[in-house]
Amino acid sequence: MVIYLDNAATTKVCNEAVKAITGCLQVKYGNPSSLHGMGIEAEKIIDNTRKIIGMALACEPECIYFTSGATESNNLAIFGTVGAYGKRKRKIVTTSIEHPSVSECMNKLEENGFDIVRVSPNSMGEFAVEDFINAVDENTCLVSAMLVNNENGYILPIGEIFKAIKRKNPDIITHCDGVQGFMKIPMKVKELNADLISISGHKVHSAKGVGAIYKKRGIRLEPTCFGGGQEKGVRSGTESVPLIAGLGASVEELAKTIDFRLERAKELQEYFLEKLKKLDDVIINIDNNNMPYIINLSIKGIRSEIMLHFLEEKGIYVSSGSACSKGAKSSVLREFGIKDEIIDSSIRISTSYENTIKEMEMLIDAIVEAKQRFKFN
Ligand code: PLP
Repeated sequence: MVIYLDNAATTKVCNEAVKAITGCLQVKYGNPSSLHGMGIEAEKIIDNTRKIIGMALACEPECIYFTSGATESNNLAIFGTVGAYGKRKRKIVTTSIEHPSVSECMNKLEENGFDIVRVSPNSMGEFAVEDFINAVDENTCLVSAMLVNNENGYILPIGEIFKAIKRKNPDIITHCDGVQGFMKIPMKVKELNADLISISGHKVHSAKGVGAIYKKRGIRLEPTCFGGGQEKGVRSGTESVPLIAGLGASVEELAKTIDFRLERAKELQEYFLEKLKKLDDVIINIDNNNMPYIINLSIKGIRSEIMLHFLEEKGIYVSSGSACSKGAKSSVLREFGIKDEIIDSSIRISTSYENTIKEMEMLIDAIVEAKQRFKFN
Protein backbone atom coordinates (compact mmCIF):
# COMPACT_ATOMS: atom_id res chain seq x y z
CA MET A 1 0.00 0.00 0.00
CA VAL A 2 1.28 3.44 -0.91
CA ILE A 3 -0.14 6.67 0.45
CA TYR A 4 1.64 9.31 -1.55
CA LEU A 5 1.50 12.72 0.11
CA ASP A 6 4.51 14.35 -1.50
CA ASN A 7 2.87 15.88 -4.55
CA ALA A 8 4.68 19.21 -4.17
CA ALA A 9 7.91 17.29 -4.83
CA THR A 10 6.56 15.45 -7.84
CA THR A 11 3.37 13.79 -9.06
CA LYS A 12 2.35 10.51 -10.61
CA VAL A 13 2.08 10.79 -14.39
CA CYS A 14 -1.58 10.54 -15.40
CA ASN A 15 -2.83 7.95 -17.91
CA GLU A 16 -3.54 10.56 -20.59
CA ALA A 17 0.05 11.84 -20.39
CA VAL A 18 1.50 8.30 -20.50
CA LYS A 19 -0.54 7.59 -23.62
CA ALA A 20 0.54 10.81 -25.30
CA ILE A 21 4.20 10.26 -24.39
CA THR A 22 4.38 6.65 -25.59
CA GLY A 23 2.58 7.58 -28.81
CA CYS A 24 5.40 9.96 -29.63
CA LEU A 25 8.22 7.57 -28.72
CA GLN A 26 7.66 4.98 -31.41
CA VAL A 27 5.01 6.29 -33.76
CA LYS A 28 5.08 10.08 -34.03
CA TYR A 29 8.80 10.39 -33.44
CA GLY A 30 9.75 13.01 -36.03
CA ASN A 31 11.98 16.00 -35.30
CA PRO A 32 9.86 19.18 -35.32
CA SER A 33 12.59 20.96 -37.27
CA SER A 34 12.43 18.43 -40.14
CA LEU A 35 10.65 19.72 -43.21
CA HIS A 36 8.96 16.42 -44.11
CA GLY A 37 5.58 15.13 -42.98
CA MET A 38 6.85 13.50 -39.79
CA GLY A 39 8.53 16.73 -38.76
CA ILE A 40 5.38 18.70 -39.44
CA GLU A 41 3.39 16.18 -37.40
CA ALA A 42 5.80 16.63 -34.47
CA GLU A 43 5.55 20.40 -34.79
CA LYS A 44 1.77 20.14 -34.66
CA ILE A 45 2.01 18.16 -31.42
CA ILE A 46 4.15 20.89 -29.87
CA ASP A 47 1.81 23.61 -31.10
CA ASN A 48 -1.14 21.74 -29.67
CA THR A 49 0.47 21.78 -26.19
CA ARG A 50 1.28 25.47 -26.71
CA LYS A 51 -2.43 26.07 -27.26
CA ILE A 52 -3.42 24.05 -24.20
CA ILE A 53 -0.97 25.88 -21.94
CA GLY A 54 -1.98 29.18 -23.53
CA MET A 55 -5.58 28.37 -22.67
CA ALA A 56 -4.68 27.41 -19.10
CA LEU A 57 -2.80 30.69 -18.56
CA ALA A 58 -5.23 32.71 -20.70
CA CYS A 59 -2.54 33.94 -23.08
CA GLU A 60 -1.65 33.58 -26.73
CA PRO A 61 -0.06 30.19 -27.51
CA GLU A 62 2.83 32.00 -29.24
CA CYS A 63 3.93 33.34 -25.87
CA ILE A 64 4.72 29.82 -24.56
CA TYR A 65 8.24 28.41 -24.98
CA PHE A 66 9.22 24.89 -23.91
CA THR A 67 12.17 24.11 -21.66
CA SER A 68 13.48 21.12 -19.71
CA GLY A 69 11.65 22.17 -16.53
CA ALA A 70 11.10 25.07 -14.21
CA THR A 71 14.72 25.24 -13.09
CA GLU A 72 15.65 26.05 -16.67
CA SER A 73 12.66 28.38 -17.10
CA ASN A 74 13.66 30.31 -13.96
CA ASN A 75 17.32 30.51 -15.04
CA LEU A 76 16.25 31.70 -18.49
CA ALA A 77 13.87 34.28 -17.04
CA ILE A 78 16.48 35.72 -14.71
CA PHE A 79 19.71 35.52 -16.72
CA GLY A 80 17.79 36.21 -19.95
CA THR A 81 16.34 39.42 -18.50
CA VAL A 82 19.69 40.46 -17.07
CA GLY A 83 21.31 39.82 -20.48
CA ALA A 84 18.71 41.94 -22.25
CA TYR A 85 18.06 44.72 -19.72
CA GLY A 86 20.72 44.49 -17.03
CA LYS A 87 23.66 46.26 -18.67
CA ARG A 88 22.97 49.54 -16.89
CA LYS A 89 20.17 48.57 -14.49
CA ARG A 90 21.99 46.46 -11.92
CA LYS A 91 19.33 45.92 -9.28
CA ILE A 92 16.92 42.98 -8.86
CA VAL A 93 14.14 42.59 -6.30
CA THR A 94 13.09 39.13 -5.20
CA THR A 95 11.80 37.42 -2.05
CA SER A 96 13.63 35.66 0.75
CA ILE A 97 11.59 32.46 0.26
CA GLU A 98 12.28 31.57 -3.37
CA HIS A 99 13.03 28.06 -4.60
CA PRO A 100 16.79 27.45 -5.12
CA SER A 101 16.27 27.60 -8.90
CA VAL A 102 15.64 31.32 -8.35
CA SER A 103 17.62 32.07 -5.20
CA GLU A 104 20.81 30.47 -6.51
CA CYS A 105 20.59 32.58 -9.69
CA MET A 106 20.32 35.63 -7.45
CA ASN A 107 23.35 34.55 -5.41
CA LYS A 108 25.34 34.16 -8.63
CA LEU A 109 24.30 37.60 -9.86
CA GLU A 110 25.18 39.10 -6.48
CA GLU A 111 28.68 37.62 -6.80
CA ASN A 112 28.85 39.35 -10.18
CA GLY A 113 28.08 42.75 -8.69
CA PHE A 114 24.27 42.96 -8.92
CA ASP A 115 22.37 44.57 -6.08
CA ILE A 116 19.88 41.92 -4.96
CA VAL A 117 17.11 42.99 -2.58
CA ARG A 118 15.29 40.08 -0.92
CA VAL A 119 11.91 41.09 0.48
CA SER A 120 10.91 39.13 3.62
CA PRO A 121 7.50 38.55 5.19
CA ASN A 122 6.53 41.39 7.56
CA SER A 123 5.86 41.04 11.29
CA MET A 124 2.40 39.63 10.49
CA GLY A 125 4.04 36.88 8.40
CA GLU A 126 2.76 38.41 5.17
CA PHE A 127 4.31 39.85 2.04
CA ALA A 128 3.27 43.47 1.82
CA VAL A 129 2.94 45.17 -1.56
CA GLU A 130 4.54 48.37 -0.15
CA ASP A 131 7.73 46.48 0.68
CA PHE A 132 8.18 45.65 -3.00
CA ILE A 133 7.29 49.15 -4.14
CA ASN A 134 9.80 50.63 -1.71
CA ALA A 135 12.48 48.19 -2.87
CA VAL A 136 12.35 49.03 -6.58
CA ASP A 137 13.94 52.11 -8.11
CA GLU A 138 15.10 53.39 -11.50
CA ASN A 139 18.06 50.96 -11.46
CA THR A 140 15.83 47.88 -11.09
CA CYS A 141 15.62 45.63 -14.15
CA LEU A 142 13.67 42.71 -12.69
CA VAL A 143 11.28 41.68 -9.92
CA SER A 144 11.08 37.91 -9.49
CA ALA A 145 8.67 36.37 -6.99
CA MET A 146 6.93 33.02 -6.62
CA LEU A 147 3.16 32.61 -6.56
CA VAL A 148 2.99 29.73 -4.05
CA ASN A 149 5.77 28.66 -1.75
CA ASN A 150 6.77 25.02 -2.13
CA GLU A 151 7.43 24.40 1.57
CA ASN A 152 4.37 25.84 3.28
CA GLY A 153 1.96 26.65 0.44
CA TYR A 154 1.92 30.38 1.27
CA ILE A 155 0.26 32.34 -1.56
CA LEU A 156 1.90 35.66 -2.38
CA PRO A 157 -0.29 38.51 -3.72
CA ILE A 158 1.63 38.48 -7.00
CA GLY A 159 -1.08 40.17 -9.05
CA GLU A 160 -1.15 43.16 -6.69
CA ILE A 161 2.62 43.30 -6.27
CA PHE A 162 3.35 43.27 -9.99
CA LYS A 163 0.54 45.74 -10.73
CA ALA A 164 1.98 48.19 -8.21
CA ILE A 165 5.50 47.71 -9.59
CA LYS A 166 4.33 48.35 -13.15
CA ARG A 167 2.47 51.44 -12.01
CA LYS A 168 5.62 52.80 -10.41
CA ASN A 169 7.90 51.81 -13.27
CA PRO A 170 6.46 50.06 -16.34
CA ASP A 171 9.96 49.21 -17.62
CA ILE A 172 10.69 46.75 -14.81
CA ILE A 173 10.31 43.13 -15.97
CA THR A 174 8.13 40.98 -13.71
CA HIS A 175 8.79 37.25 -13.39
CA CYS A 176 6.70 34.76 -11.46
CA ASP A 177 7.76 31.23 -10.55
CA GLY A 178 4.30 29.74 -10.91
CA VAL A 179 5.29 26.10 -10.43
CA GLN A 180 3.33 25.27 -7.29
CA GLY A 181 0.22 27.20 -8.26
CA PHE A 182 -0.12 26.05 -11.86
CA MET A 183 -3.31 24.03 -12.44
CA LYS A 184 -4.09 24.20 -8.72
CA ILE A 185 -5.27 27.75 -8.15
CA PRO A 186 -6.41 30.39 -10.67
CA MET A 187 -3.34 31.61 -12.51
CA LYS A 188 -4.04 33.88 -15.46
CA VAL A 189 -1.37 36.00 -17.08
CA LYS A 190 -3.46 39.17 -16.95
CA GLU A 191 -4.31 38.77 -13.28
CA LEU A 192 -0.69 38.12 -12.36
CA ASN A 193 0.56 41.15 -14.34
CA ALA A 194 3.61 39.04 -15.15
CA ASP A 195 5.91 39.44 -18.13
CA LEU A 196 7.42 36.01 -17.54
CA ILE A 197 6.00 32.90 -15.84
CA SER A 198 7.73 29.56 -15.20
CA ILE A 199 5.92 26.24 -14.98
CA SER A 200 7.00 22.62 -14.62
CA GLY A 201 5.58 19.38 -16.06
CA HIS A 202 6.22 16.95 -13.25
CA LYS A 203 4.25 18.94 -10.69
CA VAL A 204 1.12 18.62 -12.84
CA HIS A 205 0.96 14.87 -13.45
CA SER A 206 3.23 14.97 -16.46
CA ALA A 207 6.80 13.72 -16.84
CA LYS A 208 10.01 15.07 -15.34
CA GLY A 209 12.25 16.94 -17.76
CA VAL A 210 9.74 19.28 -19.36
CA GLY A 211 8.56 22.75 -18.48
CA ALA A 212 7.68 26.02 -20.10
CA ILE A 213 8.07 29.73 -19.83
CA TYR A 214 5.46 32.31 -20.71
CA LYS A 215 7.05 35.38 -22.28
CA LYS A 216 4.89 38.39 -22.97
CA ARG A 217 5.12 39.72 -26.52
CA GLY A 218 7.80 42.37 -26.86
CA ILE A 219 9.78 41.29 -23.80
CA ARG A 220 13.36 40.44 -24.76
CA LEU A 221 15.24 37.52 -23.27
CA GLU A 222 18.90 36.97 -24.03
CA PRO A 223 19.13 33.18 -24.64
CA THR A 224 21.09 31.15 -22.12
CA CYS A 225 21.49 28.24 -24.50
CA PHE A 226 22.71 28.68 -28.06
CA GLY A 227 22.29 26.30 -30.97
CA GLY A 228 19.74 25.49 -33.64
CA GLY A 229 17.44 28.40 -32.83
CA GLN A 230 14.44 26.28 -31.80
CA GLU A 231 11.60 27.94 -29.90
CA LYS A 232 12.15 31.11 -31.96
CA GLY A 233 15.72 31.29 -30.72
CA VAL A 234 14.64 31.70 -27.08
CA ARG A 235 15.65 28.15 -26.20
CA SER A 236 17.78 26.19 -28.64
CA GLY A 237 17.80 22.39 -28.54
CA THR A 238 15.51 19.81 -30.14
CA GLU A 239 12.20 19.96 -28.33
CA SER A 240 11.28 16.87 -26.32
CA VAL A 241 8.16 16.14 -28.34
CA PRO A 242 7.04 13.15 -26.22
CA LEU A 243 7.29 15.04 -22.95
CA ILE A 244 5.69 18.14 -24.44
CA ALA A 245 2.83 15.95 -25.73
CA GLY A 246 2.47 14.51 -22.22
CA LEU A 247 2.41 17.98 -20.69
CA GLY A 248 -0.39 18.98 -23.06
CA ALA A 249 -2.38 15.87 -22.21
CA SER A 250 -2.10 16.29 -18.44
CA VAL A 251 -2.85 20.02 -18.49
CA GLU A 252 -5.87 19.43 -20.75
CA GLU A 253 -7.19 16.88 -18.25
CA LEU A 254 -6.50 19.01 -15.18
CA ALA A 255 -8.11 22.06 -16.76
CA LYS A 256 -11.47 20.26 -16.70
CA THR A 257 -11.38 19.81 -12.94
CA ILE A 258 -9.44 22.73 -11.49
CA ASP A 259 -12.32 24.00 -9.27
CA PHE A 260 -13.42 20.53 -8.27
CA ARG A 261 -9.88 19.51 -7.31
CA LEU A 262 -9.34 22.69 -5.30
CA GLU A 263 -12.54 21.95 -3.36
CA ARG A 264 -11.34 18.40 -2.70
CA ALA A 265 -7.95 19.65 -1.54
CA LYS A 266 -9.78 21.99 0.86
CA GLU A 267 -11.89 19.10 2.18
CA LEU A 268 -8.79 16.99 2.79
CA GLN A 269 -6.99 19.90 4.43
CA GLU A 270 -9.95 20.80 6.64
CA TYR A 271 -10.46 17.21 7.74
CA PHE A 272 -6.77 16.77 8.50
CA LEU A 273 -6.38 20.08 10.35
CA GLU A 274 -9.51 19.43 12.39
CA LYS A 275 -8.07 16.11 13.59
CA LEU A 276 -4.60 17.56 14.12
CA LYS A 277 -5.93 20.34 16.33
CA LYS A 278 -7.17 17.71 18.78
CA LEU A 279 -3.63 16.37 19.29
CA ASP A 280 -1.20 17.82 21.83
CA ASP A 281 2.16 19.07 20.73
CA VAL A 282 1.23 19.46 17.09
CA ILE A 283 2.02 22.80 15.54
CA ILE A 284 0.52 23.78 12.22
CA ASN A 285 3.05 25.88 10.36
CA ILE A 286 0.58 27.51 8.00
CA ASP A 287 -2.06 30.19 8.26
CA ASN A 288 -5.15 31.12 6.31
CA ASN A 289 -3.27 32.45 3.34
CA ASN A 290 -2.18 29.02 2.23
CA MET A 291 -2.99 26.88 -0.74
CA PRO A 292 -4.86 23.83 0.61
CA TYR A 293 -2.71 21.37 -1.35
CA ILE A 294 0.25 21.96 1.00
CA ILE A 295 0.17 21.52 4.78
CA ASN A 296 3.29 22.06 6.88
CA LEU A 297 3.25 20.88 10.48
CA SER A 298 5.59 19.96 13.32
CA ILE A 299 5.22 17.34 16.00
CA LYS A 300 7.12 18.73 18.95
CA GLY A 301 9.97 16.51 20.07
CA ILE A 302 10.00 14.26 16.99
CA ARG A 303 12.59 15.23 14.41
CA SER A 304 11.47 15.40 10.79
CA GLU A 305 13.69 12.51 9.60
CA ILE A 306 12.44 10.21 12.35
CA MET A 307 8.85 10.99 11.49
CA LEU A 308 9.48 10.68 7.78
CA HIS A 309 10.99 7.21 8.12
CA PHE A 310 8.37 6.07 10.60
CA LEU A 311 5.64 7.07 8.14
CA GLU A 312 7.53 5.47 5.28
CA GLU A 313 7.47 2.14 7.12
CA LYS A 314 3.71 2.41 6.98
CA GLY A 315 3.74 3.20 3.26
CA ILE A 316 3.04 6.91 3.82
CA TYR A 317 5.31 9.23 1.85
CA VAL A 318 5.71 12.82 3.00
CA SER A 319 8.52 15.32 2.90
CA SER A 320 10.64 17.02 5.54
CA GLY A 321 10.43 20.74 4.73
CA SER A 322 11.20 20.74 1.03
CA ALA A 323 12.46 17.81 -1.03
CA CYS A 324 14.99 20.07 -2.69
CA SER A 325 16.70 21.05 0.56
CA LYS A 326 17.68 17.40 1.31
CA GLY A 327 17.49 17.71 5.06
CA ALA A 328 19.00 21.20 5.30
CA LYS A 329 17.20 23.42 7.82
CA SER A 330 14.39 25.31 6.15
CA SER A 331 15.20 28.98 5.74
CA VAL A 332 11.67 29.51 4.43
CA LEU A 333 10.03 28.53 7.73
CA ARG A 334 12.59 30.64 9.58
CA GLU A 335 11.59 33.60 7.41
CA PHE A 336 8.05 33.17 8.71
CA GLY A 337 9.33 33.45 12.26
CA ILE A 338 9.17 29.76 13.14
CA LYS A 339 11.66 28.68 15.81
CA ASP A 340 14.51 26.30 15.00
CA GLU A 341 13.26 23.49 17.25
CA ILE A 342 9.89 23.57 15.47
CA ILE A 343 11.59 23.67 12.07
CA ASP A 344 13.63 20.61 13.09
CA SER A 345 10.43 18.61 13.38
CA SER A 346 8.53 20.01 10.42
CA ILE A 347 7.00 17.79 7.78
CA ARG A 348 5.23 18.72 4.58
CA ILE A 349 2.09 16.94 3.44
CA SER A 350 1.14 17.72 -0.14
CA THR A 351 -1.99 16.22 -1.65
CA SER A 352 -3.33 15.56 -5.13
CA TYR A 353 -6.76 14.62 -6.52
CA GLU A 354 -5.88 10.98 -5.92
CA ASN A 355 -5.74 11.29 -2.12
CA THR A 356 -8.74 10.40 0.02
CA ILE A 357 -10.16 11.17 3.46
CA LYS A 358 -9.38 7.56 4.39
CA GLU A 359 -5.71 8.20 3.64
CA MET A 360 -5.72 11.33 5.80
CA GLU A 361 -7.29 9.28 8.56
CA MET A 362 -4.49 6.72 8.27
CA LEU A 363 -1.94 9.52 8.41
CA ILE A 364 -3.53 10.84 11.61
CA ASP A 365 -3.47 7.35 13.15
CA ALA A 366 0.20 7.04 12.24
CA ILE A 367 1.01 10.43 13.78
CA VAL A 368 -0.78 9.42 17.01
CA GLU A 369 1.24 6.20 17.08
CA ALA A 370 4.51 8.06 16.45
CA LYS A 371 3.75 10.45 19.29
CA GLN A 372 3.33 7.52 21.69
CA ARG A 373 6.44 5.78 20.43
CA PHE A 374 8.98 8.59 20.16
CA LYS A 375 7.92 11.54 22.15
CA PHE A 376 9.74 11.09 25.38
CA ASN A 377 12.66 9.03 24.02
N1 PLP B 1 10.12 26.33 -8.43
C1 PLP B 1 9.41 25.76 -7.44
C2 PLP B 1 8.55 26.62 -6.57
C3 PLP B 1 9.49 24.39 -7.22
O1 PLP B 1 8.79 23.84 -6.22
C4 PLP B 1 10.32 23.62 -8.06
C5 PLP B 1 10.50 22.17 -7.81
O2 PLP B 1 10.44 21.70 -6.68
C6 PLP B 1 11.03 24.26 -9.10
C7 PLP B 1 10.90 25.62 -9.24
C8 PLP B 1 11.94 23.49 -10.01
O3 PLP B 1 11.18 22.77 -10.96
P1 PLP B 1 11.83 21.61 -11.85
O4 PLP B 1 11.94 20.41 -10.97
O5 PLP B 1 10.86 21.43 -12.99
O6 PLP B 1 13.15 22.08 -12.33
